[in-house]
Amino acid sequence: MSSMQGWRSEMEDTHTAVIGLPRGLNRWSFFAVYDGHGGSMVAEYCCEHLLEHITSNPDFQNALREEEHSVDSVKNGIRAGFLHFDEHLRTVSEKKHSVVDRSGSTAVGVMISPSHIYFINCGDSRGVLARGGNVHFSTQDHKPSNPLEKTRIQNARGSVTFQRVNASLAVSRALGDFHYKCAPGKDATEQLVSPEPEVNALERSVVEDEFIVLACDGIWDVMANEELDQFVRARLEVTGDLERVCSEIVDTCLYKGSRDNMSVALIRFTGAPTVSPGAVKREAELDKYLESRVAEILNKQGDEGVPDLVHVLQTLTSESIPNLPPGGGLASKQSVIEAVYNQLKPIQK
Ligand code: MN
Repeated sequence: MSSMQGWRSEMEDTHTAVIGLPRGLNRWSFFAVYDGHGGSMVAEYCCEHLLEHITSNPDFQNALREEEHSVDSVKNGIRAGFLHFDEHLRTVSEKKHSVVDRSGSTAVGVMISPSHIYFINCGDSRGVLARGGNVHFSTQDHKPSNPLEKTRIQNARGSVTFQRVNASLAVSRALGDFHYKCAPGKDATEQLVSPEPEVNALERSVVEDEFIVLACDGIWDVMANEELDQFVRARLEVTGDLERVCSEIVDTCLYKGSRDNMSVALIRFTGAPTVSPGAVKREAELDKYLESRVAEILNKQGDEGVPDLVHVLQTLTSESIPNLPPGGGLASKQSVIEAVYNQLKPIQK
């Protein structure tokens, strides 16, 4: 897991990672990323309490009591947990804050059982499963302009303008956001903003399942599913340190121009790529090559004195550099370039 506040003035993302769930589910796991907006209260509350609301709600408990707990009952249990959690959140937010809290949060997560992966999505964060060398599955973002979302919003007497709910909120499903959840005579799932998660169950494949990435829109704004998939699998050939891979994803997205908070969780299965000596060697050569190019560019200073970092980066961008990480490109090497630049710059004077 890694996260970064980035250019925003507040950090409103949170996350959960639990290996071995309570209530006897010690072979189950739960991972989630929450992207808060309008404050961090709801995202923080999700991080602390959402899982407990899922595992303790009667529908989920009943699903587990069934002889062979059916996939559909587990899915229903997760859904019921979300709806129950949101109702509870409303009372908490009204009690705790004299002015009703106006924050909300998306949620993307996976509940992993010994046999299945349950992808859970509410909002525009996204989860992706890499299997057998490709992106095998991706959750669908809940954007107000999606036909189904738009219909629900209009039925609740709202509008979608500038791709936003009532010209304001850029996401059509979220926890919290109660000022978008007060259309009279409508169920929770029929409001302008719905807390209903989309739950997809996938049977696990021990041989082919490689990894799952969960990330907020700050990541996906600048990386497509396939790009991130390629980047992660290439990094897993260079390092076994998942936290390092996550940090590199976040840094790369910052350099690719993301302006948002960024959070990413990476879950590795046994079928994932492993460190290969060839890839490690190529990586070391790439770093060496970049170091020498930065030194050469600095040495070529003209009348204007020492070239600035922007000039160095622009020069490198215009060149074809061998073995840049797929999906990450030069952006994924910018921290290396910056470090070398800062180290060499004083020597030039
Ligand atoms: Mn965001």
